[in-house]
Amino acid sequence: MEIFAGFAGAEVLYDAKGAVRGVATGDMGVNRKGEKTDAFQPGVELLAKYTFFAEGCRGHLGKQLEARFKLREGVDPQVFGIGLKELWEVRPEQHRPGLVVHTAGWPLDSGTYGGSFLYHLDNHQAAVGFVVGLGYTNPYLAPHEEFQRYKTHPAIRGFLEGGKRVAYGARAITAGGLQSLPKLVFPGGCLIGDDAGFLNASRIKGSHGAIKSGMMAAEAAHAALASGRSAWRSSPASPAPKCSTTRKARCAASPPATWASTARARRPRPTSREWSCSPNTPSLPKAAAAIWASSWSTDSGCATESIRSCTA
Ligand SMILES: Cc1cc2nc3c(=O)[nH]c(=O)nc-3n(C[C@H](O)[C@H](O)[C@H](O)COP(=O)(O)OP(=O)(O)OC[C@H]3O[C@@H](n4cnc5c(N)ncnc54)[C@H](O)[C@@H]3O)c2cc1C
Repeated sequence: MEIFAGFAGAEVLYDAKGAVRGVATGDMGVNRKGEKTDAFQPGVELLAKYTFFAEGCRGHLGKQLEARFKLREGVDPQVFGIGLKELWEVRPEQHRPGLVVHTAGWPLDSGTYGGSFLYHLDNHQAAVGFVVGLGYTNPYLAPHEEFQRYKTHPAIRGFLEGGKRVAYGARAITAGGLQSLPKLVFPGGCLIGDDAGFLNASRIKGSHGAIKSGMMAAEAAHAALASGRSAWRSSPASPAPKCSTTRKARCAASPPATWASTARARRPRPTSREWSCSPNTPSLPKAAAAIWASSWSTDSGCATESIRSCTA
C-alpha cells in the first residue's frame, strides 16, 4: 500500500470509452500567477482498474462524477450542515466516562435545523460539538457563535467549567440522508463514505457508513477482478453486472446495515425543513416526533441486497 500524503487528486482521468481509469494529482511549485517556479513538479497519473472516491462531504471530483455519469438523477438534492467540534479536558469530578448527551434546537430558533453532542471519553476528556443546517435563512446567524452560546446552557456549562479546550475543528456534513443518496457506481469506480452521502444526520454517524461502504466496494472490486472484469464491463467469462437502474444500483452498493441505518434516519432533516416553513408550528417538537417515528420505520426493499449482488 502506498499513501501519497499531501497530494490531492486534482483531476479524474478517463479512458477512450469514457470509463474512469484513475486520477491525476495537481502540479506542485506553481506561483500565485500560475507560473512554474524552480520547485515545479508536474502532477502524476495514478491509474487503477477501479477507483474509489472518498473525498468526504461534497468532494470536488465526486461532484464532477455525479454530473458526468448523471448519478443524481431521480434523487433529492443533497443538503449540508456545518459541524463544529472541540475536545476538552474536564475536571475529574465532572467526568462521566461513557455519558452521551444529544440535544436539538437551542440556541437555534425554531426555524433552524441543528443540535449538539457531548461525549465523555477516557482520560478526563470530553468531545463537544454543534451542527447547524446550512439552509438557515437568518444572514446574521454565525454557527460558531451559536456553538459558544450552547456551551453556556446550564445542562452543559457545568461539565466544561474549569476545564481546558485542547483541540477544535469544523467540517461540513451531508445531511440529506437516504433520499439524497446518488447512484453509487459508474464505469471504473464508485463513490463511498460521505462523498456519496452515507451520513446518518440525526445521529451524526458517518464513520461506520464510510468504513463499511469502502469494505463492500473493495470486496466487489476484488470479486470483479478475480473474474476477469474491469470498469464494470463484461468479459467473455463474466457478463456485466445488472445494476443499470438507479434504485438497483443504489441498493446494490449499499451495505444492508448501512442502508437500514440510513433508512431509519431518513425523515428528520427533510421533515424539519418542511415544518420550519410553517410559522405556527414550532419545528423542534415535530422534528423530535419525526426522529422517534423514523426509528420504527424501515426500508426493507433494499436491506437484503448488497454490492455483492452487483458482481454476481
Ligand atoms: C463535528 C462532527 C462530528 C462527528 N461525529 C461523528 C461521530 O461521533 N461518529 C461518526 O460515526 N461520525 C461522526 N461524524 C461524521 C464523520 O466524521 C464522517 O461521516 C466521516 O468522517 C466520513 O468519512 P469519509 O472517509 O467518507 O470522509 P472524510 O473523513 O471527510 O475523509 C475524506 C478525506 O479525503 C480528503 N480529500 C478530499 N478531497 C480529496 C482529493 N481530491 N484528493 C485527496 N484527498 C482528498 C480530505 O482532506 C479528507 O481527509 C462527525 C462529523 C462532524 C463534522
